[in-house]
Amino acid sequence: METPLPTALGDKTARPLARQLELHTVGDLLRHYPRRYIAHTQVTHSSDREDQRFRDKEHVTLLGTVHSVSGRRMRHRKGHITEATVVIGAQRLTCTFFNQPYRERDLQPGTRALFSGDLSRYKGGWQLAAPEFIVLGAGVSADLPGLIPIYPATKKLRSWVVMMAVRQVLDLLADPEDPLPEVLRAAHGLATLGDALRRVHLPDTWEEQKAARRRLVWDEAFGLQLAMAGRRASATSRPAPACPRREDGLAAAFDARLPFALTGAQTTVGESLAEVLAGTEPLNRLLQGDVGSGKTIVALRAMLQVVDSGRQAVLLAPTEVLAAQHARSLRAMLGSLGRAGELGADPDGHATRVTLLTGSLGAKARREALLDAQSGAAGIVVGTHAVIQQGVGFADLGLVVVDEQHRFGVHQRDELRSRPGTTTPHVLVMTATPIPRTVALTLYGDLDTSVLDELPAGRRPIATTAVPAGVKPRWLERAWERVHEEVAAGHQVYVVCPRIGEEGGEPGTEDDEPARAADDLLDPEADADEEPGPEARPPLAVAEVAPMLAAGPLAGLRLEVLHGRMPADEKDAVMRAFSEGKVDVLVATTVIEVGVDVPNATMMIIMDADRFGVSQLHQLRGRVGRGSASSSCLFVTEALEGSPALTRLERLAATPDGFEVSRLDLEVRDEGDVLGAQQSGRRSGLHMLSVLKHADLVAEARDEAREVVGADPTLARHPGLAGLVRSVVDEASAAFLDRL
Ligand code: ADP
Ligand code: MG
Repeated sequence: METPLPTALGDKTARPLARQLELHTVGDLLRHYPRRYIAHTQVTHSSDREDQRFRDKEHVTLLGTVHSVSGRRMRHRKGHITEATVVIGAQRLTCTFFNQPYRERDLQPGTRALFSGDLSRYKGGWQLAAPEFIVLGAGVSADLPGLIPIYPATKKLRSWVVMMAVRQVLDLLADPEDPLPEVLRAAHGLATLGDALRRVHLPDTWEEQKAARRRLVWDEAFGLQLAMAGRRASATSRPAPACPRREDGLAAAFDARLPFALTGAQTTVGESLAEVLAGTEPLNRLLQGDVGSGKTIVALRAMLQVVDSGRQAVLLAPTEVLAAQHARSLRAMLGSLGRAGELGADPDGHATRVTLLTGSLGAKARREALLDAQSGAAGIVVGTHAVIQQGVGFADLGLVVVDEQHRFGVHQRDELRSRPGTTTPHVLVMTATPIPRTVALTLYGDLDTSVLDELPAGRRPIATTAVPAGVKPRWLERAWERVHEEVAAGHQVYVVCPRIGEEGGEPGTEDDEPARAADDLLDPEADADEEPGPEARPPLAVAEVAPMLAAGPLAGLRLEVLHGRMPADEKDAVMRAFSEGKVDVLVATTVIEVGVDVPNATMMIIMDADRFGVSQLHQLRGRVGRGSASSSCLFVTEALEGSPALTRLERLAATPDGFEVSRLDLEVRDEGDVLGAQQSGRRSGLHMLSVLKHADLVAEARDEAREVVGADPTLARHPGLAGLVRSVVDEASAAFLDRL
């Protein structure tokens, strides 16, 4: 499998595979699976059947020889037509191609090829309009597989060239060693690896290819789950510091002062966290909940329990803005309980300190923050991943809370946990956007899951509307009028743009934020040779929209901008002013996506909403509707009526539930993409696994993986399986574990 393709196939055949598809080894080629297959049950082998009769509209795959070919401009229509006359036994038919003049070169007289398409009448004979075809070289025609594989290919490298290369390789290849032990194959009804590879490429029947795929998908799912199980085993191999509850501690004082009742879900989940924190079995938990379900308080209560036992908790945020926002809101929630050592500390002596640690702190502030962490003066340290990982010392770290923002991965999560010592901290991971159970199983299979499936009482749904501004400019005018009305009623408004603008920043280059470019939504399967669309205008930018609004429709309102490229203290000042109600309209990028919590903000207008991902839009709109007043969110787009982009926005507008949204997100992403590193340009070990389609198989693989790892934690007795893990995770981890 490691054999270089030039060795196996010769330079001439190998070169285009490397150039066009980045396939360098036999293994690469064999993992370049067909995208689909053409069944050619009706293939006519040359003169076998003189009596072949064609039927109109029949789908056929035929083996024929090109008799003649010519191309010309069309007379009555614009464009070019290529016609090839193909001889099939005693019959002839015409293959026609529009605007593909290069077909003439592909189909020179004498070329033998498989043509597949729908028959129709043409000039008194039969034609196949724009058929798919595979040119056959010497020696290939004799034993075609029952299903002809169609590969992801490019204009320069046709699918059939890949097929022939695969064939050649398969002919030479001795059966590869199977990483799955026989018992496992038998238990799960799986084909051998050799069979699977052969049959995924050259199946004779649909059943064969199905069985082949099942085996290959299993390998991916199982490799992944073994990795997860291994991580889980190592994460919990050392004991955690026990943090028992105290009746008279901070947590109790905090609960007593809460201005509202916890939701049932918050209570239940809090209870289960408290129990685990009290013991030495490390907490290893994923906390899921929709935007606004109150995850932060659940996390804070857990942190306080840890502080009560004399230890520290750290909260990791993906960006500086978020870290600052978290620190601010934790301090606000704690009130006097968070002011240890300061004026206004809790008079009963209960108090801790929340210390912020980010990269943009000045040298002195940074030194103080580091000292706070090291000495234990800070019960709670909030910081960005980047900073905390740079060797911040803690006096006694009991709990790591990770606010996971699409992009954090297992590596980061493990860093603090894997520091040397006799214990390992408890870990609580919060996802900003809920993900369906099956997806959680795939991506967070190493964690146990708790779900906050209840919103605090009194929440009003956010009235969301898609505004097709291109078609209905009046709607947008009305939107700006509504902004004035909201402000007149004492409320505040966000206007969100996809881009910062100024100094020629590229689209999607908000560096300090978890924005996933709308590119994520591109279909990774899209043909590489598809024509690029007309030049789209760049997405709207804060730097352009803010002055336009200030001078035009929002003149007279107090308007500020916020984006990730502003200096930290400026960002902080703007955010504080907005929180304090001193700003009416905040024109921002997705820096406000998560964690920003201003209950008085009741309206959000998202410009060029089609440029954002579905989950991101849901997250964004969650910034409003946090108070008791009713709120609204507008998705403004120039997408045309009936276009997929507008339809997507309309569906999202009609879907208030985060779990539903994430399902929708997966659907529109074509979801193979969730795992796939295809589009990141990196070759991943995950080619086929689909978190939606293979949910059952993933669950099966997870159970098996936990069993295997339970008995053999390092896989020392299963070298094949260790290899499987490496093949899936080494390459893929960076590409996908860090993506969500
Ligand atoms: P999430 O992080 O899950 O999106 P937050 O923890 O930021 O949600 O909570 C959203 C808002 O709801 C915050 O203003 C918080 O103070 C408030 N909140 C949380 N729990 C409750 C509750 N049980 N009752 C009322 N308000 C709550
Ligand atoms: Mg939150």
